[in-house]
Amino acid sequence: MLPPMQVLLVEDNLINQKVAQKLLERAGHTVTIAGNGREALTVLSDSVFDLVLMDVAMPEMDGLEATQAIRLREEGKPSRMPIVAFTAHAMVGDRERCLAAGMDAYVTKPVQPPLLFQAMADALALTRHAG
Ligand code: MN
Repeated sequence: MLPPMQVLLVEDNLINQKVAQKLLERAGHTVTIAGNGREALTVLSDSVFDLVLMDVAMPEMDGLEATQAIRLREEGKPSRMPIVAFTAHAMVGDRERCLAAGMDAYVTKPVQPPLLFQAMADALALTRHAG
Protein backbone atom coordinates (compact mmCIF):
# COMPACT_ATOMS: atom_id res chain seq x y z
CA MET A 1 0.00 0.00 0.00
CA LEU A 2 1.36 3.38 -1.03
CA PRO A 3 1.39 6.35 1.32
CA PRO A 4 -0.94 9.21 0.27
CA MET A 5 0.99 11.25 -2.28
CA GLN A 6 0.85 14.49 -4.19
CA VAL A 7 0.73 13.24 -7.77
CA LEU A 8 1.28 15.32 -10.88
CA LEU A 9 -0.66 13.71 -13.71
CA VAL A 10 0.69 14.84 -17.08
CA GLU A 11 -1.78 13.80 -19.74
CA ASP A 12 -3.36 15.56 -22.70
CA ASN A 13 -6.37 13.28 -23.17
CA LEU A 14 -9.40 14.36 -21.13
CA ILE A 15 -10.81 10.87 -20.68
CA ASN A 16 -7.47 9.46 -19.58
CA GLN A 17 -7.11 12.42 -17.21
CA LYS A 18 -10.46 11.66 -15.59
CA VAL A 19 -9.92 7.91 -15.34
CA ALA A 20 -6.47 8.23 -13.79
CA GLN A 21 -7.53 11.06 -11.48
CA LYS A 22 -10.43 9.03 -10.12
CA LEU A 23 -8.26 5.97 -9.57
CA LEU A 24 -5.57 7.94 -7.79
CA GLU A 25 -8.00 9.88 -5.63
CA ARG A 26 -9.81 6.69 -4.61
CA ALA A 27 -6.45 5.36 -3.45
CA GLY A 28 -5.98 8.44 -1.26
CA HIS A 29 -3.69 10.50 -3.46
CA THR A 30 -4.05 14.16 -4.32
CA VAL A 31 -3.93 14.88 -8.05
CA THR A 32 -2.84 17.91 -10.03
CA ILE A 33 -3.23 17.77 -13.81
CA ALA A 34 -0.95 19.23 -16.46
CA GLY A 35 -2.01 18.96 -20.12
CA ASN A 36 1.45 18.65 -21.66
CA GLY A 37 5.14 18.52 -20.81
CA ARG A 38 5.65 22.27 -20.88
CA GLU A 39 2.80 22.81 -18.44
CA ALA A 40 4.25 20.09 -16.22
CA LEU A 41 7.60 21.85 -16.02
CA THR A 42 5.88 25.06 -14.94
CA VAL A 43 3.76 23.32 -12.31
CA LEU A 44 6.80 21.44 -11.00
CA SER A 45 8.64 24.73 -10.44
CA ASP A 46 5.78 26.07 -8.37
CA SER A 47 4.70 23.15 -6.18
CA VAL A 48 6.03 20.07 -4.48
CA PHE A 49 5.06 16.62 -5.73
CA ASP A 50 5.86 13.10 -4.62
CA LEU A 51 5.48 11.46 -8.01
CA VAL A 52 4.82 12.27 -11.68
CA LEU A 53 2.65 10.11 -13.91
CA MET A 54 3.82 11.05 -17.41
CA ASP A 55 2.04 10.43 -20.69
CA VAL A 56 4.43 10.13 -23.64
CA ALA A 57 2.51 11.47 -26.65
CA MET A 58 1.41 15.06 -25.95
CA PRO A 59 1.27 18.33 -27.89
CA GLU A 60 3.79 21.15 -27.24
CA MET A 61 6.22 18.99 -25.31
CA ASP A 62 6.06 15.21 -25.07
CA GLY A 63 6.74 13.11 -22.01
CA LEU A 64 10.22 12.07 -23.09
CA GLU A 65 11.37 15.68 -23.54
CA ALA A 66 9.72 16.77 -20.30
CA THR A 67 11.39 13.95 -18.39
CA GLN A 68 14.78 14.85 -19.81
CA ALA A 69 14.20 18.46 -18.73
CA ILE A 70 13.23 17.36 -15.22
CA ARG A 71 16.37 15.21 -14.93
CA LEU A 72 18.53 18.11 -16.17
CA ARG A 73 17.09 20.36 -13.47
CA GLU A 74 17.89 17.72 -10.87
CA GLU A 75 21.59 17.56 -11.71
CA GLY A 76 23.63 18.27 -8.62
CA LYS A 77 20.60 17.92 -6.36
CA PRO A 78 20.18 15.07 -3.87
CA SER A 79 16.57 14.23 -4.71
CA ARG A 80 15.14 12.51 -7.75
CA MET A 81 11.48 12.81 -8.75
CA PRO A 82 9.82 9.42 -9.25
CA ILE A 83 8.45 9.44 -12.82
CA VAL A 84 6.14 6.73 -14.14
CA ALA A 85 5.60 6.55 -17.90
CA PHE A 86 1.88 6.42 -18.65
CA THR A 87 1.56 5.46 -22.25
CA ALA A 88 -0.75 4.00 -24.86
CA HIS A 89 2.15 2.78 -26.94
CA ALA A 90 2.87 -0.80 -26.07
CA MET A 91 5.33 -0.98 -28.92
CA VAL A 92 8.59 -2.86 -28.83
CA GLY A 93 11.27 -0.54 -27.54
CA ASP A 94 8.83 1.94 -26.06
CA ARG A 95 9.57 0.96 -22.48
CA GLU A 96 13.29 1.28 -23.18
CA ARG A 97 12.84 4.75 -24.70
CA CYS A 98 10.98 5.88 -21.57
CA LEU A 99 13.61 4.51 -19.23
CA ALA A 100 16.39 5.99 -21.38
CA ALA A 101 14.71 9.40 -21.09
CA GLY A 102 14.93 9.10 -17.31
CA MET A 103 11.61 7.61 -16.29
CA ASP A 104 11.67 5.09 -13.45
CA ALA A 105 8.77 2.78 -14.27
CA TYR A 106 6.30 2.16 -17.04
CA VAL A 107 2.57 1.43 -17.25
CA THR A 108 0.36 1.17 -20.33
CA LYS A 109 -3.14 2.49 -21.05
CA PRO A 110 -5.92 1.46 -20.72
CA VAL A 111 -4.74 1.45 -17.17
CA GLN A 112 -5.10 -1.57 -14.90
CA PRO A 113 -5.16 -0.33 -11.31
CA PRO A 114 -2.90 -3.01 -9.77
CA LEU A 115 -0.28 -2.41 -12.48
CA LEU A 116 -0.46 1.35 -12.03
CA PHE A 117 0.01 1.13 -8.27
CA GLN A 118 2.81 -1.40 -8.68
CA ALA A 119 4.61 0.90 -11.14
CA MET A 120 4.21 3.80 -8.71
CA ALA A 121 5.65 1.71 -5.88
CA ASP A 122 8.55 0.61 -8.09
CA ALA A 123 9.37 4.19 -9.06
CA LEU A 124 9.21 5.29 -5.45
CA ALA A 125 11.50 2.49 -4.27
CA LEU A 126 13.97 3.15 -7.07
CA THR A 127 14.30 6.87 -6.42
CA ARG A 128 14.58 6.35 -2.68
CA HIS A 129 17.52 4.00 -3.16
CA ALA A 130 19.08 6.39 -5.63
CA GLY A 131 18.77 9.27 -3.18
MN1 MN B 1 -1.29 11.67 -25.05
